[in-house]
Amino acid sequence: MSRVSTGLAQGLEIDCQRCSLALTRSHVVIGRGSTDAKVMFLGEAPGRQEDQSGLGFQGAAGQRFDEILQFVGLDRDDIWLANAVRCRPTVNGRRNRKPNPDEIHTCRHWLLEDIRRVRPELIVTLGRVAFESVTGFAWQKGQRAQSLFVEEFNLTVYPLYHPAYLIYRRHLASTYVRDLVGLRVVLGQREVPLREPTGPWADMQ
Ligand code: SF4
Repeated sequence: MSRVSTGLAQGLEIDCQRCSLALTRSHVVIGRGSTDAKVMFLGEAPGRQEDQSGLGFQGAAGQRFDEILQFVGLDRDDIWLANAVRCRPTVNGRRNRKPNPDEIHTCRHWLLEDIRRVRPELIVTLGRVAFESVTGFAWQKGQRAQSLFVEEFNLTVYPLYHPAYLIYRRHLASTYVRDLVGLRVVLGQREVPLREPTGPWADMQ
């Protein structure tokens, strides 16, 4: 049975002041899920809705993310879900922006804490920022859906597009489904129990 946690190192993490994003955030979006999870999903950074709620992957990107999990045959209680940067980066407190290298480097402290405590066998990185934060390697074209062993953590990374990328690029859904079929194989090799694919993409295999 999985142990479901609302987050690790909560007391320290939810009050974190390690970088200037602390000045403008509403909530630190801490990692959540099962502390027994073999697989972690890692996003980029919170947006407005995540900042307001304190929960990862809300709104349209959250809906795409839940569709991904439905297809893979997992739910949020089966995995560990976190972001590379845990406070919302903004332009003048209004628009979302990508986190900068200093913010990614500073917040990596909390990613390492999650890896140390959850000890996942696999991290599914969602987008370039998440991939580079875990591996320390620059993203290369063609990296997507290629397993990469990361010696520093003794685990494998499986990179995917960020779910938000699909919101305005529905034509990429069939590519994404192929990548998720590959992910199901990788998870099966690690004996992660998976349900049959469901959700809107289940008929696209
Ligand atoms: S982004 Fe990360 S390092 Fe910066 S204040 Fe938030 S939790 Fe701390």
